[in-house]
Amino acid sequence: MTFASLGLAAPLLQALDTLGYKTPTPVQIQAIPAVLAGRDLMAAAQTGTGKTAGFALPVLQRLSEGEKAASNSIRALVLVPTRELAEQVQSSFRQYGEHLAVSTYAAYGGVSINPQMMRLRRGVDVLVATPGRLLDLFRQNAIKFKQVEILILDEADRMLDLGFAQELSTVFAALPKQKQTLLFSATFSDEIRSMAKGRLRDPLSIEV
Ligand code: AMP
Repeated sequence: MTFASLGLAAPLLQALDTLGYKTPTPVQIQAIPAVLAGRDLMAAAQTGTGKTAGFALPVLQRLSEGEKAASNSIRALVLVPTRELAEQVQSSFRQYGEHLAVSTYAAYGGVSINPQMMRLRRGVDVLVATPGRLLDLFRQNAIKFKQVEILILDEADRMLDLGFAQELSTVFAALPKQKQTLLFSATFSDEIRSMAKGRLRDPLSIEV
């Protein structure tokens, strides 16, 4: 199995070559073609399985095909539980997208909101954010959700453990109905399943 055979385009293959990734991991083999085809996903995958590349690579490819983000707009939203993970995920998007014109930015709490508001004015293709700060930015009209094509929930179980259920509901309600949703979680509790119910469309289930 190769990354090329999963349907990834040359600019991404070149970045993977630079990083020394030779073969896709099981979660990547299942997730990449499904995300490229526009499917929703529910993936049970722990850290270390290569889950980040499993969503970042096909999301970058899809975004490289469309219109850039308009002012104060975002096209893909990645929700993560912590600022450390926000930085890591954003850094993965940057590395994989090195040869693509897809902009990425990480916004999280515990730091000043003003620079985040200023950066968002120019629009961001991929915003990686923690739920609380995302809602602060939304309520201050620094972000519009109309252009969101893809929502990714990373470590969804940890977001619920940290008490973000209400924030996640509010974000879901504010996003366009028509979008692709990818949910990654180490475990699938009843709470995760009920959050997914009615919000994901015919999701492909992946377990690794
Ligand atoms: P993750 O599970 O997304 O946290 O990724 C775990 C680690 O595996 C990260 O350091 C990635 O850079 C690395 N990684 C992901 N996919 C591959 C791959 N196909 N080949 C080699 N390393 C990889």
